[in-house]
Amino acid sequence: MPVSERADVLVVGLGAMGSGTCAQLAARGASVIGIDQYDPPHPLGSTHGETRMTRVAVGEGAEYVPLVRRSHELWREIEADTGTRLLTQPGGLIMSRPGAWFFEGTRELARRLGIEHEELSPAELRERFPMFAVDEQTEGYYEPEAGFVRPEDAVRAQLELARRAGAELRLRERVLSWSASRHGVGVVTDRARYTGGQLILCAGPWLPELFPEGRDLFAIYRQVQLWFPIRQGYEQLRSMPVFVWDFGGERGDFVHFDGFYGFPAVDGLSGGIKVATETYETTTMPDGYQHPPTAAETAAMYHHCIECRLPWLGPEPVRGLSCLYTSTRASRFVIDRHPEHAEVLIVSACSGHGFKHSPAIGEAVAQWVTDGHPQLDLTRFGLAHAARASTH
Ligand SMILES: Cc1cc2nc3c(=O)[nH]c(=O)nc-3n(C[C@H](O)[C@H](O)[C@H](O)COP(=O)(O)OP(=O)(O)OC[C@H]3O[C@@H](n4cnc5c(N)ncnc54)[C@H](O)[C@@H]3O)c2cc1C
Repeated sequence: MPVSERADVLVVGLGAMGSGTCAQLAARGASVIGIDQYDPPHPLGSTHGETRMTRVAVGEGAEYVPLVRRSHELWREIEADTGTRLLTQPGGLIMSRPGAWFFEGTRELARRLGIEHEELSPAELRERFPMFAVDEQTEGYYEPEAGFVRPEDAVRAQLELARRAGAELRLRERVLSWSASRHGVGVVTDRARYTGGQLILCAGPWLPELFPEGRDLFAIYRQVQLWFPIRQGYEQLRSMPVFVWDFGGERGDFVHFDGFYGFPAVDGLSGGIKVATETYETTTMPDGYQHPPTAAETAAMYHHCIECRLPWLGPEPVRGLSCLYTSTRASRFVIDRHPEHAEVLIVSACSGHGFKHSPAIGEAVAQWVTDGHPQLDLTRFGLAHAARASTH
């Protein structure tokens, strides 16, 4: 094994969180080595599938709003610096019967924080968004600033910025173990050894392997993303908002949401409409393979979600992928120092809603590591919060 290399900061995992963190650290002049077992972006963790939703009134809690606001600014900066198009804002629509926690939480937050939005009656919903077959009880929340980000392009762009600013990226190299003491940190991979001042673990669904002390805090769930074919109304489907259809089920323990969500036709007439739901029946662990949706999962998605609500779509998907959630109780993020090693930071922001916040999280973590404290308040994402979290 070669002589060990050294950097101010070692970052393990270069997905949404790690790529943003590396770019922000390198931009601050820190020497950084970022390590990933694959060559991100890749389809084996949590950051793939062409689109991720972003919304400003984050129904999961007011503490997420500063993160998403800052991320919207950062996406534009990253776009300008890399010549890419990452954030598209066609607006976002949430549909639900009154009383559902996510729908009501979003509306209440938007009213309280003065976030621009419209509240739509069933008749207004039908008039403005005829692709959705809503019943007489279904109401709408429309937010013009909402939209979607391209996750693979976002990871590529941030890794490019990290490289340009001098970060060393070690790809297809698996971290086997790490150590920490008050003198610094060490990492052993299947190819080399590294030492540094601080270590940031952004390992997504692999985090429990590298942070076994936190194993009880996290549960990994496989989710499916399906692209259903467009039968009619392509022009309207192309320009429609991102959407969430909230069925109003109970949120509790690791369960984040009951319903489904989707995106406009971003890939032409033949690309279909991407929709996804959330399931929490069994936990899993990443195994290095992509496990696409089964015929039973596809049929269930079509019959439970699409057939009676999006009748402009056909039943046979043009594409399907699975993706992994790293969930916590009450869907909280964990962004904190390791309980026993102050030189090590844990960055786990998923529970199915982390991507939209990733550049701001990267920036805050980089500030924390280089300046001693983040400018945005991360205290609600501490390990202690996650350990005692309830949904209220
Ligand atoms: C289906 C689905 C839909 C989602 N929809 C949305 C949405 O609409 N809006 C939203 O905001 N969020 C959404 N999310 C959540 C969001 O995508 C995640 O919060 C985010 O992608 C998590 O990124 P990450 O960097 O933590 O994990 P990952 O992107 O999985 O990155 C972890 C990286 O660590 C590397 N790694 C792990 N262990 C090791 C090791 N030992 N050695 C070397 N490398 C290692 C992996 O190879 C991987 O590249 C969704 C998630 C899924 C799965």
